Amino acid sequence: MQVYGLVGNPVEHSLSPPMHEAAYEATGLDARYVTFEPPEDEGAVAVESAATLGVCGLNVTIPFKEQVLSAVEPAPLAERVGAVNTVDLRTDPPAGYNTDATGVTRALAHHGVALEGTAVVVGAGGAGRAAAFALADANMTVRVANRTRSRAEELAAAVDEGPGGAATADGLASLRGLLADADVLVNATSVGMDEDVSPVPAGALHADLTVLDAVYSPVETRLLRDAAAAGATTVDGAWMLLYQGVEAFERWTGREAPVDAMNDALRARL
Ligand code: NAP
Repeated sequence: MQVYGLVGNPVEHSLSPPMHEAAYEATGLDARYVTFEPPEDEGAVAVESAATLGVCGLNVTIPFKEQVLSAVEPAPLAERVGAVNTVDLRTDPPAGYNTDATGVTRALAHHGVALEGTAVVVGAGGAGRAAAFALADANMTVRVANRTRSRAEELAAAVDEGPGGAATADGLASLRGLLADADVLVNATSVGMDEDVSPVPAGALHADLTVLDAVYSPVETRLLRDAAAAGATTVDGAWMLLYQGVEAFERWTGREAPVDAMNDALRARL
């Protein structure tokens, strides 16, 4: 039997176990997915210990995504994002990936969204970094807008230095102007999580926009309702969560992921 799992603190409310267990059942893989909750500064030790114990792969969540970089060989995108959320433990050293980043682009691709033109990323924390690097890698021009403008500037400068699309930085007050000719908007702030508020003025949304909200609790956020009312294409945060898990499954097993089974398991719990 193969063992996969999640390292985080806390992990008790994670949706990854049912999503991955559903994938094992659908593919007939003899595997289990378990959760580990090490002390807050022991992320790298946890990865090294899991490798010793024969665990095949790990997802990594808050607060360990940056810490585990020292215990893995990061893929180029994970290295640029500065965070790892998926580790393949069968290689030496373990390989680290950022599937939050590819979760953004694969969620958009699933909805037939062309990754062309300009993307506005609201937020410059972990999800914002993942989205900004992934969309720039897809050759989109990225405009980062963040409450703390200095964080947007730091992120945009790092994205701009790398391969792919150019990046600029703004504060949230510029959102209306930024969105006027944008093709994609990603909310990568926590605004809208468990409360009915949006980080973006409803009047700035329009029908030529695709709006991906990284927030998945609730699944239908105020931002997505406003976007739908404006005629925009909407992609909820569960799609991003799904595709980070899909990519982890594929990295670990080399098999095509049973996307529908994973999606059903995830949405049944949201
Ligand atoms: P984080 O690193 O703590 O970053 C939080 C971001 O939200 C920062 O840019 C912060 O701005 C901004 N923010 C917080 N409160 C705000 C407010 N009241 N007004 C404006 N901006 C505010 O968090 P994270 O890990 O990036 O997560 C952000 C969200 O994405 C969470 O809801 C998380 O659940 C979600 N997420 C979803 C997925 C998925 O698969 N769907 C994956 C990862 C994360 P400042 O820099 O100014 O503080």
